[in-house]
Amino acid sequence: MKKIIYLPLIFLLSFLKAEENNIDLFGLYKHLHANPELSYQEFETSEKLAKILENIGYEVTRNIGGNGVVALLNNGEGETVLLRADMDGLPVKEKTGASYASTKTAINSEGKEVFTMHACGHDVHMTVLIGAAEYLFKNQSDWKGTLVLVLEPAEEVSGGARNMIKDGLFTRFPRPDFNLAFHVSSSLQAGKVGYLPGWAMANVDSVDITVRGLGGHGAYPHTTKDPIVLAANIVTQLQTIVSRQIAPTDPAVVTVGSIHGGTKHNVIPNEVKLQLTLRSYTDEVRNQTLASIERIARGAAISAGLSEDYYPVIEIKDEYTPAVFNNPGLVEKVQKSFVKSLGSENVIKVSPVMGGEDFGMFGRVEPIIPTALFWLGAVNNKVYEKAIREDLTLPSLHSDLFLPDAEPAIETGVRAMSYAALDLFNKKY
Ligand code: ZN
Ligand code: ZN
Repeated sequence: MKKIIYLPLIFLLSFLKAEENNIDLFGLYKHLHANPELSYQEFETSEKLAKILENIGYEVTRNIGGNGVVALLNNGEGETVLLRADMDGLPVKEKTGASYASTKTAINSEGKEVFTMHACGHDVHMTVLIGAAEYLFKNQSDWKGTLVLVLEPAEEVSGGARNMIKDGLFTRFPRPDFNLAFHVSSSLQAGKVGYLPGWAMANVDSVDITVRGLGGHGAYPHTTKDPIVLAANIVTQLQTIVSRQIAPTDPAVVTVGSIHGGTKHNVIPNEVKLQLTLRSYTDEVRNQTLASIERIARGAAISAGLSEDYYPVIEIKDEYTPAVFNNPGLVEKVQKSFVKSLGSENVIKVSPVMGGEDFGMFGRVEPIIPTALFWLGAVNNKVYEKAIREDLTLPSLHSDLFLPDAEPAIETGVRAMSYAALDLFNKKY
């Protein structure tokens, strides 16, 4: 009699219980953390992950826009959801003291040997994506639709998203209804996620200015046009863009991060080189800032009495990163899903930042695909509480001391990302 009663119950229980993950995610994370590759050099990383996705059962395409990988799972009629992780590390020498810290080096684009580190947490992003990939593959009976997994190269130099899109990410593969990604947070505790509708991360532009003059003897300045004084003047004038020209309600940053000119005390050089980083949210503020830089540089040269041939040369670098605009409707849906899967105490509304992320490009293709980037808490609880108690500053992203509390962060990320995708597929929001 007992068997007759219990058998269907056991069957029902196993049917309701989700299939567990088998991949050792923390082991994978430690391997990735110890073996960071620079932007455009993610050869071993992309191959390792492509193989894992193939082994799970995905249809994998390699070398999309460089080392990019796209993995597909067609699971019937329904929505198409894209999940993205980035793969590149940074030229930073790790000082976290972790047992699995990176000691790797690589040759950078200038031919110099540099240490490499996953100082931006992209190793966490990749591990979370693999965890969600396995979960959603094993639990295909729970959803219908098409899952597109993207492993993006060269995010740190703002080349990866652009190159993958150019190479047909949205034309050669099913076009997503939603794009989702996580970025680790160096200020949120592991176990929590952060959300923000609207502008979340900034437009990033790099600008080089070559200030030109007429060099000569330091003792005869009247026979020269001193580019050092001119450059100093330009640097000071640039400060008025944000303080006097952009509306105070529009966030913007103009930072001169590098100034180089001259070789010796008593020689006035011919030129000085400036390197700037610019941040903004809207296209209007971006264009206004770029136009102001041009006007200020040119105006300073005119006031120094230089002819047009000697006006400063301004170069806007290619690595422009567009701002991340989180689609408010999508954020609302995913935030509800996070609350269900993690509890409302672990789902935190965060503030926008002026950092950049080239995931913004995923939301810029026409027609627009609703896109949202969420923050994944990565700070160890004890470290976080000590920092609050003692008013300490936590290591930021890109710091040689940034070490995510990987196990709880990955577990939270896999759960949050998998359930968010499930809810989008099943329209449960
Ligand atoms: Zn970064
Ligand atoms: Zn990053």
